[in-house]
Amino acid sequence: MNESKNALSTLDPQAPLVLDVHELGRRPGSQRVLTLSVPAPAGLGTEVLGVLEGSTLELQVRLEAVVEGVLASGVVQAELVGECVRCLEPIERNTSVEFQELYAYPDSDVEDDEASRLEGDLLDLEGTVRDAVILSLPFQPLCRDDCPGLCVRCGARLADEPEHRHEAEIDPRWSALARFLADEGSTEVEAPNKKSPDPSSNDRRDEGAGSSGDRT
Ligand SMILES: [Zn+2]
Ligand SMILES: [Zn+2]
Repeated sequence: MNESKNALSTLDPQAPLVLDVHELGRRPGSQRVLTLSVPAPAGLGTEVLGVLEGSTLELQVRLEAVVEGVLASGVVQAELVGECVRCLEPIERNTSVEFQELYAYPDSDVEDDEASRLEGDLLDLEGTVRDAVILSLPFQPLCRDDCPGLCVRCGARLADEPEHRHEAEIDPRWSALARFLADEGSTEVEAPNKKSPDPSSNDRRDEGAGSSGDRT
């Protein structure tokens, strides 16, 4: 009897998030609590953060018969992987997301066309879990709330180098002197502040020493 009902269903009873509610017997108030550990379906996330397909989802689900159908509620735990949108550092963190969905009986006259429905004795939790997880994700995931991002000049990750900064551009008067010294064949060009000059001035020096000694 039930097998024939389920045979009409498009759901795969073997699918990890397809649950059989036959036991509840349509008696409002009857309930069942399940603990599941299942492989994550594909697409459980956004482009920047999500659950890897096949990684483990841990679910605690309460199935409760109500007048119109079965109320499925619970919590899903999963590991999120992704990338910080500011510094591109990998993100790995656990998440725990609550969900709740009413699955109307196939013959119930719930008005909402959007309502989830049982198929025979089966309900498919995948869409409910997917919606709950995706809605819970930050729009712009960060490795930490105050991630300072990357240096706009050199791309260094500022969280790793709190003191990171660049010397101010070399004063144009000094850069003229640096070029002059380079043309004279000087081997050492120093900016006034002791830090070594940026690499481009080294390049100029090398070229200058080789090819343009007679430039005025
Ligand atoms: Zn970051
Ligand atoms: Zn930098």
